[in-house]
Amino acid sequence: MFLTISTTGIPERPATDLGFLLHKHPERAQAFSTSHGTAHVLYPEASAERCTAALLLEVDTVALVRRGKGKGRGGAPDAALAQYVNDRPYAASSLLAVALAKVFKTALHGVCQAMPERAAAPLPLRVEVPALPARGGAGLVRALFEPLGWSTVEAEPVALDEEFPEWGDSRYVRLVLEGELRLADALNQLYVLLPVLDDAKHYWVAPDEVDKLLRAGDGWLAGHPERKLITARYLSRRWGLAREATERLELVRLAEAEGLDVEDVDNAVDESTDTEERPVPLAEQRRDAILAALHGAGAARVLDLGCGQGQLVQALLKDVRFTEIVGVDVSVRALTVAARRLRLDRMGERQAARVTLLQGSLAYTDKRLAGYDAAVLSEVIEHLDLPRLPALEYAVFGAARPRTVLVTTPNVEYNVRWESLPAGHVRHGDHRFEWTREEFREWAASVAGPYGYGVEFVPVGPDDPEVGPPTQMAVFTRTDKTDETLKEVTA
Ligand code: SAH
Repeated sequence: MFLTISTTGIPERPATDLGFLLHKHPERAQAFSTSHGTAHVLYPEASAERCTAALLLEVDTVALVRRGKGKGRGGAPDAALAQYVNDRPYAASSLLAVALAKVFKTALHGVCQAMPERAAAPLPLRVEVPALPARGGAGLVRALFEPLGWSTVEAEPVALDEEFPEWGDSRYVRLVLEGELRLADALNQLYVLLPVLDDAKHYWVAPDEVDKLLRAGDGWLAGHPERKLITARYLSRRWGLAREATERLELVRLAEAEGLDVEDVDNAVDESTDTEERPVPLAEQRRDAILAALHGAGAARVLDLGCGQGQLVQALLKDVRFTEIVGVDVSVRALTVAARRLRLDRMGERQAARVTLLQGSLAYTDKRLAGYDAAVLSEVIEHLDLPRLPALEYAVFGAARPRTVLVTTPNVEYNVRWESLPAGHVRHGDHRFEWTREEFREWAASVAGPYGYGVEFVPVGPDDPEVGPPTQMAVFTRTDKTDETLKEVTA
């Protein structure tokens, strides 16, 4: 996995100045240890006319997998070997971006004490990334780099296997950028856009990533036509963060348009570039999406139907807006684990009053479940045999009738994106079915109409342009407004 940065020069301004600007001497090969492996900087050519610096990252696959631990159910399947055998060592551009930020930290900030005027001025630059994973393809690569002042943006799809052209193209492109840009600008663009193109589903985004994004995007991101996509992907679609970033970028854009000093608007910039990353398990992204939807619906009294081992119940308990939380599951074993996780036996009285765990089957109507604000069915429907599904539909939408119902289920189209999932397999041994987006929408519409609900769909996890997100969520909202009508309907 590597990229090269080249420049040309004349005797008065030799190309080897690149070494000063990058703070890396052209005559020495240097190695730096990063959290994902060893980064090497070397100069394949260094003359007054032409100078090329190469950044090469040797990924430590074992460390990467250790770091990725906890990606169990709900994330990629636990096929242990597959975690070691994937494209990360060769192509992970998000890791390359992390290495770039660490190795060229000073250059990224545009600082060069030896030759400040050279650092501040545009240089003739050529950047090449021979194998860049690009979700969205060559078209998106051009849409991202072309507005940024490069005179040439070349994105050439890489064939899967040159000997077998009939196999078609891989999801990699060979990227070449040429133009007159400030070195710091070029580095900052790469730092943000490489992971955006990788659309790295493997990494966890810390809250201070918003600051990092805004700092690296200083001067180019606020006015970029694709700023929404860049922000959403860079922040791995953690909506809260993406929204915050979008709002702050909007402020920057307005300020720039009015000629204000951007620093006044956006001064929450931290100076650390230590980009520690952890994977965001899909299960966590799902919980975040569910919490956001519950907040959106203003729900306080919530049913978690098929609560399993109680992870969502635990998250709900941490939020005081949820005053009453009921976890229901058919499995006594799951409920026992949930009770232990929640420390029900050691809970203070007030906390304990907020939570109930019930054993019960969703295939039967249950009076205890009536009258709640919202019900969540997170990764539950696919555990029922299809012929049992109408019974659950009646029990939830017909009898319990909460104002809001959230249903999440795997999007089977996404399965081709799990590196370790053999074609045609479901994600979990107990899944009786997995649906495409189309099938899920059809089912949801067939339930919503007859039971008097409206339905909207929310993607959870990275929304792949071709196959959609790994998890799909339907948000059902009861259309009969008052509880009076409800009483009539259910009477
Ligand atoms: N909601 C959790 C667990 C999903 S696993 C999560 O998102 O992680 C599916 C759960 O549904 C299991 O705990 C299983 O015991 C439960 N389940 C399956 N069929 C059920 C039924 N008919 N009634 C109640 N729970 C059921």
